[in-house]
Amino acid sequence: AVDGGGNNSVGGEDIKFSVMLSLFQWIQKSKSSAKKRSKFRKFIDTFCRKPQDNFAAMRLILPGLDRERGSYGLKEHVLATCLIDALAMSRESDDARRLLNWRKGGPKTGSNAGNFSLVAAEVLQRRQGMASAGLTIKELNDFLDHLASSENRAEKTSILSDLIRKTNAQEMKWIIMIILKDLKLGISEKSIFHEFHPDAEDLFNVTCDLKLVCEKLRDRSQRHKRQDIEVGKPVRPQLALRVSNASAAWKKLYGKEVVVECKFDGDRIQIHKNNSELNFFSRNFLDHQEYAHGMSDVITQNILADKCILDGEMLVWDASINRFAEFGSNQEIAKAAREGLDSDRQLCYVAFDILYVGDTSVIHRSLKERQEILQKVVKPIKGRLEILVPNGGLNAHLLSGEPCWSIIARSVDDVDKFFKGTVENRDEGIVLKDLTSKWEPSDRSGKWLKLKPDYVRPGSDLDVLIIGGYYGSGRHGGEVAQFLVGLAEPPAPNTYPRRFISFCRVGTGVSDEERNTIVARLKPYFRKYEYPKQAPPTFYQVTNNAKERPDVWVESPEKSIIVSITSDIRTIRTEVFAAPYSLRFPRIDKVRYDKPWHECLDVQSFVDLVHSTNGS
Ligand code: ATP
Repeated sequence: AVDGGGNNSVGGEDIKFSVMLSLFQWIQKSKSSAKKRSKFRKFIDTFCRKPQDNFAAMRLILPGLDRERGSYGLKEHVLATCLIDALAMSRESDDARRLLNWRKGGPKTGSNAGNFSLVAAEVLQRRQGMASAGLTIKELNDFLDHLASSENRAEKTSILSDLIRKTNAQEMKWIIMIILKDLKLGISEKSIFHEFHPDAEDLFNVTCDLKLVCEKLRDRSQRHKRQDIEVGKPVRPQLALRVSNASAAWKKLYGKEVVVECKFDGDRIQIHKNNSELNFFSRNFLDHQEYAHGMSDVITQNILADKCILDGEMLVWDASINRFAEFGSNQEIAKAAREGLDSDRQLCYVAFDILYVGDTSVIHRSLKERQEILQKVVKPIKGRLEILVPNGGLNAHLLSGEPCWSIIARSVDDVDKFFKGTVENRDEGIVLKDLTSKWEPSDRSGKWLKLKPDYVRPGSDLDVLIIGGYYGSGRHGGEVAQFLVGLAEPPAPNTYPRRFISFCRVGTGVSDEERNTIVARLKPYFRKYEYPKQAPPTFYQVTNNAKERPDVWVESPEKSIIVSITSDIRTIRTEVFAAPYSLRFPRIDKVRYDKPWHECLDVQSFVDLVHSTNGS
């Protein structure tokens, strides 16, 4: 019997999960997108007979878009420990080690290393039968509901153990992928939506509500009236297309009226205000109520509309230096605000757009009109609630001497100068916007363009030494794919450095082939690091931070290789690594086989470099 009531896990009573599993395997195997889509269509037409079956199935096919149940709190490592306990395995057994070391590959894991669900399937195969016990997707959804609502590891373990009893290894493999929200089917969410119903993507974009999409769009032949955005329902954000330089940007927007804005480096947040009720929706539609502690009074008192939706960036303003703090401190400051701690640093919301006001959506109006509305609706408060609207051209700003976050660009030169200004100021870059454009959910067609100063060399080469390695995942599974690099401790005059200080983790910048060459050279000197059984080598100064901890050490600095790295121009203070600063987005520029190990940059020279670039 089916009821249409509040229970989320209604529907799917008559669909066996084994049927869905065949669908997944077919889609994964099919090469062409058309074939993948037609398999999916056939499944929906044949098996989803009741209206509620659609959501029951779709939430398993697009698990990353399902917001009806909370998070499982199960990333690979925790999932591994729960599975080990659910299977009553010893932590010391080979299979337990395989699961825990899924990236490196435990004893004989071979080619599955780096893919958690495959490693798990291999372990489960030895413990589960082949026969399916006929689990339905309704039952699976019930299990997953329990798993999400269970509060501790013991409860999760017991639910997983029940689930293991009711499934076979193949089924469990796919269930694990559903829990990890990555099915690797090789079909885009767009294609699935399109095949489900021609209006599904549009409706999802303005509601971020998969259940509602499945309920409203039951009949593929019936078109749905375009729905507008609503206060209280997150909207998928307008996005920016990346360009490589100012002239490319100018060319793309040629003849348009263009505003250029600073690209702030915080959290993209949509604020929905419905009288005193506030939501802070992030890009993946989660409501970050933790921001309410620092921000609700400011917002309710300074937004002069009962209902509205603002689009913008949540940042931290540091009043002691009169600028935004570097990326990454939002959560810490939100927590301090909740605990009532006093600080120079406070949450600050920069509204760069308005999507809804009073009782109407304004996304169809031009950006120019929206900016006028934004000015009428939001009363800015310095360092707490800012609005981003241009106050004239570049020259007006240069004359005013005020910090300049937004200008009307009249030439490619204006764009270039503004961009250089942000680079000097160590901001994230710029965003160019067509002032006549509408705001469109999920659009990245080029109404907004972004230009970032990534990978600019900070004045000189950073030649650092590889001191450790990290195993990769996916196609790099089972092999070292990233390196821990170090700076030298300043040596006494005319001597070689004796210690190396961990500095950052770097993997990109080199081709697979170049990486393989480095790994092949260093392989004889890699020593597995069994934390916490072993101490790190004494000639490396490292932290105890889990984010730093490499999987292997290079057994001695003399055997290692120097690499030149570049990065985003900004350095960050770090507690993860032993050096006082680390780099954002580091990448390997060149492998310096020609440089001996002792010509590694030393930490003091690096700190001097940071201070000279920062002007402090
Ligand atoms: P990125 O890592 O470059 O931020 P992304 O995929 O997160 O990429 P994009 O849409 O490509 O996002 O780039 C625009 C992002 O830049 C927005 O999501 C927003 O978080 C941020 N941003 C900062 N300042 C602005 C601004 N003035 N206007 C629009 N977006 C801005």
